[in-house]
This record gives sequence, structure tokens and C-alpha cells, in this order.
Amino acid sequence: MVLKSKTAEANFDSLLRIFTVPEGPGSTLTKIEEEISQNLNQFLREHIVSEEKPLKAIEQDFLSSQIPELPEFVSDHTQHLLDKVVAQSVHTSAPSFIGHMTSALPYFLMPLSKIMIALNQNLVKIETSKAFTPLERQVVGMLHRLIYSGTDDFYSQWMHSANHSLGAFCSGGTIANITALWVARNNALKAQGTFQGVEKEGLFRAMKYYGYEGLAILVSERGHYSLKKAADLLGIGQEGLVAVPTDEHHKVKPEALKKTIQRLKQQRILPFAVVGVAGTTETGNIDPLAEIADICQQENCHFHVDAAWGGATLMSNQYRHLLHGIEKADSVTIDAHKQLYLPMGAGMVLFKSPTSTHAIEHHAQYILREGSKDLGSRTLEGSRSGMAMLVYACMHIISRAGYELLVNESIQKAAYFADLIQQQSDFELVSEPELCLLTYRYVPEQTRLALQQSSGDTLARLNQQLNELTKFIQKKQRESGKSFVSRTRLNPDRWQHLDTVVFRVVLANPLTTKDILHAVLEEQRHIATLAPLLLSQIQHTTESILSVGNSHEPSITP
Ligand SMILES: *Cc1c(COP(=O)(O)O)cnc(C)c1O
Repeated sequence: MVLKSKTAEANFDSLLRIFTVPEGPGSTLTKIEEEISQNLNQFLREHIVSEEKPLKAIEQDFLSSQIPELPEFVSDHTQHLLDKVVAQSVHTSAPSFIGHMTSALPYFLMPLSKIMIALNQNLVKIETSKAFTPLERQVVGMLHRLIYSGTDDFYSQWMHSANHSLGAFCSGGTIANITALWVARNNALKAQGTFQGVEKEGLFRAMKYYGYEGLAILVSERGHYSLKKAADLLGIGQEGLVAVPTDEHHKVKPEALKKTIQRLKQQRILPFAVVGVAGTTETGNIDPLAEIADICQQENCHFHVDAAWGGATLMSNQYRHLLHGIEKADSVTIDAHKQLYLPMGAGMVLFKSPTSTHAIEHHAQYILREGSKDLGSRTLEGSRSGMAMLVYACMHIISRAGYELLVNESIQKAAYFADLIQQQSDFELVSEPELCLLTYRYVPEQTRLALQQSSGDTLARLNQQLNELTKFIQKKQRESGKSFVSRTRLNPDRWQHLDTVVFRVVLANPLTTKDILHAVLEEQRHIATLAPLLLSQIQHTTESILSVGNSHEPSITP
């Protein structure tokens, strides 16, 4: 047997080759490229192993902390990547993987991203990006118009203005939210009299000057955890992110919001920003944005809308009314890498006013000169890729009308699935879909009756047993690799706010069929039978509840 050497020799000539000469026609890399461009889905299906391998076992392939001393041949290494990484990755675009917000991608993005990477533009400044800068400004302008519906004159005045920006392109919703709240904080504590502004003097001196005891950002209790990071980073402290109670539809209660603002003000804490969520991560619900906007206007605080996931709904003329009031927001976060079907790393924050970002403007002499059109002077991130080109391409190739079809299809599919769940005697819909996200759980038929007839400790016990079953089903389903739903924990009104584990489904993949939805339920029903012990505990509690219930019956019949 001939042992094939996996290593090459580190020499300068071969190093030069990796910068200049492409891999030969028969090489592993070339074959992969062909497979990907011919049939991406087939490539993913063939190379990702569906059966789950424990993470501990996968870790064994990634143990060495030493940077290799000997170079490997590209083809050999590519094979290694296929075996150890691709095979053990997650098939996020599989139509039966309906548990996450990470979407399937249109095939044309593969070759286009190759161009993007080959050009390797850096959007931080014009010198390294040229046409990419006006392109990015246009993309930001398009999303701005989608939200705020400005006039042609507005966009021709501001979209390309060197000293203004309509928003910032960034790597994702987290950075977008941080950027929005950074602007809000700096505006709330701006220069005045002898005070030079929080950006110069810091939070401690700002508090002393303005006479506040603290700052607060208000958001519904369903707010995304990125807001906590923002509060921490901006020096407000995680406790400064104040949760406002929600109603039974997981929407913030405007009255509670008003009360919270008053309470904070009495404590000399400045509620400088309110975040409305347009599509919560766990239930997909939308806060009453117009009402929040009015409260913010009265209280003179910054109104930010976190539409990272739900913002794409604005593409649909049929459903954009669900986000009514978003046009009153001072800033809005939208992730193109969620429902706009772009690859990871495409977030945006849009500002209603073209002067908002003045609050976070930074200049440096060697780069980012004042008056230049460099984007880096008004973004949190420095070097950034030409990702906006892919958004630009999608806007043209898919178009607003195309996006509307996709969004409508997702929303209607979720409504269909919700109906389907409600027709089953042994499934419970926990949160109804407002957009394309819903939650539910498996509950044996008799047990559903028992849930309704129990309360207090008995209800809590039964609910806890159901939680175990939901976790078991979700985990087994993921491990078997055919389909995937995620799971989260809610506190439904209906079940006395008990911690309730639920399946969470996001239906944004256009390739997910009704048959797949039926099959997901069938599989879950089947997996439940693989947990006889859990089922018999549930059965036991169920019977004890129902028999107690029945024993009362004679007393109500004469
Ligand atoms: C996904 C999401 C975020 C965070 O976005 P990233 O792109 O993951 O940083 C923030 N808010 C909401 C509502 C989200 O759904």
C-alpha cells in the first residue's frame, strides 16, 4: 500500500501559486465548485450527514491547538473539510428544518458571493470600496424608503450626502440594535452649556451634569437578548434594560409602559429609549407600534423598533399593515439574513432622520476624513465586506413583488400549520402565528381534558411532566435528522403562567410543503410512543385528575 503524503513543503513558489493559479480541472475543489453550481441542494444533501453525532465526539476532530508546521495540498484539505466539517454541519436550508430563523438561500448568491469575496472591498472608506459605497448607500436608502416612504426629493437630497446617512449596514441585528441605542444615548446626553457631551466626557460626568441617577431602556419582556448586551456596553448596565409586561398575545401593554416610564422618572432615572419589537424571537408577535410611538413622542424619548426578523413583512402590501406605526420610529433594525434570504452577516439599522448618526460620528486623519463619503465614520464596525452587493442583487433579482410572494406564502403556511395543529386531538397550539412563527406542543387527548380541569399543584405537576415529554420529542427528532423544530419556554396565560416548554416553528423556507408539515406532526406523535415511562406518568396524573373530576359529578346531578 502506498501512503499518500498529506503534506506539501512550505516554499515560497508554492505560496505564490495559491495567490495566482486556480486549482486544476480534476481537483477536489473544482469538483465541489461544479457540484455546488449544478445542484446546491443535492450537494448539501449528499455531504451533510443527517444522523446526529454527539458534540463530544465531533470535538475529537478539533483537539490540536498547534498551528500546523507543514502545509497541506488544497485538494487534501478540501476533502478533510468535507469529512470533518461539512458532514457534521447543520442543513439549515432543508425544507423540513423549520426551527430557526436562518434561511435557505437562492442559488445565484453562491457565484455572486464568490465575486464579492474575490473583490474583497472594504466599505470602511471609499479608497477600498469605490462603487460599493454608493451601492451600499442605495441599499440603505431602499430599506429606509420601505419603512418611512419618503419622497423622491428626500432620497435625492440625502441618500448620497457626504455628511448624512439614512442608516448603517452592519453584520447583524445585534450590532444594529447597539448602534441605534448608541445614537439614542448620545442624543439624550448631548453637549450643552459647559458639558461637552457623553461621547467626550463619559457617563459619570453626564449623570452629574444632567442630575440623573441612572438611565433606562424599556422593552417588552419578550425583547431580544442583544438589547441586554447593548445596555451593558453603553454603560447603562443590564439592570437599566427594564422589562415591560406583555398581554396574552405577547405584545407590550401600553398602559404598563406609561406607568414604568413614570416610575423611573420619579426615581430620577431617564428612560431615554423605548424598543418596540416587530416579530419577537420566541413567538413572532408585533408590539402595538403606533401606540408606543405616541408615548415616546409625549415622553420625548427615542423610539427604536427591533424588526430584525419581522421587518421583511414590509415587502408585502398585503401584510405590511401588521407593522403599522413602524414609520414613526426614530430607528429600525432589519436583518437581511433572516427573512430577506441573504447569507449571514447582513444587518441594517435605519434612521428616520438623516442627521441621527451625527451623534456617533468619529473621524481620523489618515482615514475617515471629515466631509468624505467614507461610511466608516458613522458605523460601529470598522472594516466591512461588500455584503450590500448581495442585498442589492436580491432586491433586483427577487424584487419587491417577489419578496411579497415569499412573505405571503410564509404567513399563509403558518396559518395553515396552526389550523392543522388545532385539528389534532393530541396537539395544542400554544401561540398563534401573527407572521410565520408559531409554538405548540404534544399533549395526549385525555391529558388535554385533564389540563383544563386541574389547577394549582396538580396542574403544575402535569405541566412539568409534559415539559419533559416536549423536550424528549424535540431532542429525538433533531437527533434522528429527518426534521427539526426548535424549542423554547413560554408562560401562557391559559396555564397560569407556568413555565411551559413548546416546539417553535419558523416557516420561511419556500420549499417547505404541507406534506412536510403533516410528516413533522406524525413523527412527533410517533416519537412520543418511544417514551413509555414519561407517557405513563402523564397518564397516571391525567387519570387522577379526571377521576377526581368525575367523582364530583353525582353531586351536580340530582
Ligand atoms: C435575530 C434577532 C436579533 C439579533 O440579530 P443577529 O443578527 O443575530 O445579531 C435581534 N432582535 C431580534 C428580534 C431578532 O430576531
